Amino acid sequence: MEDGGTRKRQRRTHRIVDRLITEDTGVRPTSAGPRVCESTGCHESTRGVKPYCPLHVAQMPYVARIIARQNSREHELSCADNSRTISHNGILAAEFLRWLRSGAVSIPRMARNMSVDINVAVHIANALKRARKIRLTPNTRGVDVAELR
Ligand SMILES: [Zn+2]
Repeated sequence: MEDGGTRKRQRRTHRIVDRLITEDTGVRPTSAGPRVCESTGCHESTRGVKPYCPLHVAQMPYVARIIARQNSREHELSCADNSRTISHNGILAAEFLRWLRSGAVSIPRMARNMSVDINVAVHIANALKRARKIRLTPNTRGVDVAELR
């Protein structure tokens, strides 16, 4: 039985897959004609240019990678919400560091960039600070600003 969260996740995965395929092929998934799923024994039609139906789309290696990555990120997020522990080597930390490559970012701004709760951004920042990967300096309004060190 799927819960609402799973369905929401699948819809998001499909949006990401659509975008990647559009970038890959230059064809908008919605503008292509119907196809039949390439998974053995499956006769479902696929959405647009996707070679597999929604049930089998994870057979595409890069889709499998996206789903695995998304699941790990969500797992880290739920850990951050529940136990307040977050790895400075995890996916969220890597994402945080990536945003800092182009310059210093305030914590509230980082939370918006990463689409995470402000408290999660604070936890990630503290983990990275403890690992001596970033510096946190309050700006003139007393808001912490993160930068790579
Ligand atoms: Zn199929």
